[in-house]
Amino acid sequence: MNQTTTVAFLGTGIMGAPMARNCAAAGLDVRAWDRTPEKVRALADDGVTPVDSPAETVRGADAVVTMLADGAAVEAVMIGGGALAAMDDEALWLQMSTIGVAATGRLVKLAAERGIAYVDAPVVGTRQPAEAGELLVLASGPEDLRDRAAPVFDAVGRATRWVGDEPGAGTRLKLVFNGWLVSLIESLSETLAFSRAMGIPPEQFLEAIDGTPMGLPYAQIKGGAMARMDFSEVAFPLRLAHKDARLVLEAAEAVGLDLPLMRTAEAQFGRAEAEGHGDEDLAAVHYAVVSSG
Ligand code: NAP
Repeated sequence: MNQTTTVAFLGTGIMGAPMARNCAAAGLDVRAWDRTPEKVRALADDGVTPVDSPAETVRGADAVVTMLADGAAVEAVMIGGGALAAMDDEALWLQMSTIGVAATGRLVKLAAERGIAYVDAPVVGTRQPAEAGELLVLASGPEDLRDRAAPVFDAVGRATRWVGDEPGAGTRLKLVFNGWLVSLIESLSETLAFSRAMGIPPEQFLEAIDGTPMGLPYAQIKGGAMARMDFSEVAFPLRLAHKDARLVLEAAEAVGLDLPLMRTAEAQFGRAEAEGHGDEDLAAVHYAVVSSG
């Protein structure tokens, strides 16, 4: 079985670019492709070799990392772009994008049909932890693949949590995590709108909760951005948080569970995205409640 020394990255956006850089910094031989060629060329000085097509990128690599927007993008690149067909038979596919339960099921099946080993490994952490190599990897897949995945996971993360032997468990935990995140942000947004309506400046509310069990560090960061209505520092684009809200609802619906708060959050993220805030940070969901007030 191959030792993992050569890694192909497909997708060098907010997350993929620093992850590829950190793999190169850890001594792995890294090549990468992005739909937008300038993004991948910008990594050349950091020891990442830019490649022109997904199929060329994966050819001869020990491990292939997909870090793309959603399931449709992963399918477009791996199937439409010919990457799955071009992978070495012995290579490992580390699927690290957040794509939800249904797309994971489809990709696991496609990988099995092609005879490729698949690890489901979405990550927790945003731009800054990705840059610092401090992501949390939520991995699931056969135990005998763990040593081969470790050089990549160790380079991009502070820890890897193996949550199951079958691919899919990592994705389910990631959805639970992001369901919490999305509902938290929506709740914070409404709370700050209510605060303003009560004549209480949002900053005063944030100061009041600081240091209490409810004063989450995340609420301070995102609440501060909402108080200033400044969402230009993009850690997690709103359009991707909206996608995750949809994935949570789809997964819940598939098992017959209704999530009223998540339905509201999804609608609010959809509204902010429709108003043109999709590329701003997810805290820009605040526009949905501010513009409706
Ligand atoms: P991003 O900056 O928007 O990057 C998305 C990547 O997908 C880019 O490489 C983009 O290409 C590519 N892409 C989108 N549609 C495509 C298509 N149809 N065909 C080919 N390529 C396509 O997003 P990101 O923040 O890096 O997120 C990547 C994944 O990680 C997502 O699943 C996201 O939910 C997840 N995630 C994000 C965060 C975060 O905080 N940002 C945290 C954890 C997990 P272009 O460069 O051409 O646009």
